[in-house]
Amino acid sequence: MYGWTGNILRIDLTKKKTVVEQYGTSMASDFLGGRGFAIKILWDELPLGVDPLSPINKLVFAAGPLTGWPLPSSGKLVVAAKSPLTAGYGDGNVGTQAAVQMRRAGYDAIIVDGKAETPTFLLVQDNSTQFLDAKDLWGLSSFETEKKLRSLHGRSSGMLLIGQAGENMVRFANVVCQEGRAGGRPGMGAVMGSKNLKAIVITGSRELPSAHPKEMKELGAEAYKEILSKPSYAFWKRQGTMMTIEWSQENSVLPTYNYREGVFENASEIGGFAMEKIKVSNRGCPQCNMTCGNVVKDSGGGDSELDYENVTMLGSNIGLGDLKEVATLNRMADEFGLDTISLGNVLGFAMEASEKGIIKEKIPWGDFKACQVLVEDITFKRSLGGILANGVRSAAEKIGRGSSRWAMHVKGLEISAYDCHTTPGMALAYATSSIGAHHKDAWIISWEVKTGREGYGVEKVEKVIELQRIRAGIFESLTVCRLPWIEVGFGLEWYPKFLWAATGMEINWETLDTIGDRVFNLIRAFWIREFGEKWSAEMDVPPTRWFEEPTTIGPLKQSKLDRPKYDAMLQTYYEKRGWDMRGIPSMTTFSRLGLADAGKQLGKRIKLST
Ligand code: SF4
Repeated sequence: MYGWTGNILRIDLTKKKTVVEQYGTSMASDFLGGRGFAIKILWDELPLGVDPLSPINKLVFAAGPLTGWPLPSSGKLVVAAKSPLTAGYGDGNVGTQAAVQMRRAGYDAIIVDGKAETPTFLLVQDNSTQFLDAKDLWGLSSFETEKKLRSLHGRSSGMLLIGQAGENMVRFANVVCQEGRAGGRPGMGAVMGSKNLKAIVITGSRELPSAHPKEMKELGAEAYKEILSKPSYAFWKRQGTMMTIEWSQENSVLPTYNYREGVFENASEIGGFAMEKIKVSNRGCPQCNMTCGNVVKDSGGGDSELDYENVTMLGSNIGLGDLKEVATLNRMADEFGLDTISLGNVLGFAMEASEKGIIKEKIPWGDFKACQVLVEDITFKRSLGGILANGVRSAAEKIGRGSSRWAMHVKGLEISAYDCHTTPGMALAYATSSIGAHHKDAWIISWEVKTGREGYGVEKVEKVIELQRIRAGIFESLTVCRLPWIEVGFGLEWYPKFLWAATGMEINWETLDTIGDRVFNLIRAFWIREFGEKWSAEMDVPPTRWFEEPTTIGPLKQSKLDRPKYDAMLQTYYEKRGWDMRGIPSMTTFSRLGLADAGKQLGKRIKLST
């Protein structure tokens, strides 16, 4: 096989055993890698109803066939498991040297099973895997851990690790690397912590097998040049995704005061231009010349890497308009290993509960000091922090008194940084995303604002599906970053060429589309298998707030979503996907995608339409 190494490293922490397993060409060509491999492995191997924080859950790290080559924005891997936050499929991608090193060590994926008896870190060096004592690392922040491991194993080693939030199994703890790059929003860090696994350090020395090495080099060089030549490149390098804050404010979609509003009175204080005044450098993922991480000095003088999502969720969504203070909260989250989106969401929820007087704690909007205390309390599960550490859905269930009305999540995953009072297409994208409410699968909002935001028509449904195919299915399985395409207009036609150079296979877009749909539908099957008869179309509906509580400020004040129109749009989405009225793929859909066995298996759990 070219392109893929053909190897998966299995690690059993309980038995301290490793096995290298070869997988077949059909797994490679049917699922590509990354998310595709992760869902195939979890679907095949996880028994139904596994407690996500038990040793039986499996943590999968998977890269794609382009990872490790000098190709734009290809230094990523996907980390996946059954989610302790949602109880469904969970994953996230992260740009990390570990992705490159894992492939050079000879593996396309690592599966971690079982639970170590005591805190452990793994040292993977080509053929050798050592189980090492992590007692000295346990209790350290992600930054401290990384520093210590780098001093022992060198700067070029790849590292995947957790902070204290992962150790304490905060249900939105993520996996961290490279001081501020993080992934696995739905609690992948908690799964790692539940296994007593503090870190994986990887180094590899092998050549990757390429079908056309000379052409691969030439294509890579041309592609980097192409990105540099794009007109929007220079501004992107200045602001990265931070430029979206001004855009969101202008278009009334900036999440503000726990998604009550779409505009924030202090938006300019936390926007891209404000950030430029305190920016000290750019950071990025390996193999990327778009380096979108904006490093600034926070209010304590530490480095903090900012982007649109973390600034918005820890800024406007909690009413905080001081960028240096936002940067401090962001740095705290990165050090502890907390997902910044879910963190901003649970803080906003708690502030609203405090304002309404249904909790005794005083947490005024924008109160930086109160937030600092609460972030620590969440990490160490103290008092109210212990309730919030289980995520906003669980917190609302525990606190009660109607608080689920302002618990902003879908399927248990906190909504990321777009208010959808005025954007039904984006609401649909959140509601049908493969991990719960996340923007990554189908960022339709900029297209929607340009083409008519008020509609609930078929063209929006088709656009959501098209984006899910490309972003959720293909990019996540190739483990390449979507941003070169979205932000500077790097053409999609490059990817089949990269694949040909790496694998020797002529894979056209039609085939890639089918793979994208296959991956998306198998993830759907995983969710439905877990929920069984409890599954219904209600799972694909965004929070009540957007339907029932109109915005009160800004040019689009008095806006809200229309529930009957949304329900009709959702049914159109199901029809276009080949799913029944409950959102369950039909047997015909499974068969068309080469997933007949998965369909048959799911059919034993819940009745499928033909
Ligand atoms: S654009 Fe940003 S997120 Fe994407 S690969 Fe580059 S640095 Fe990473």
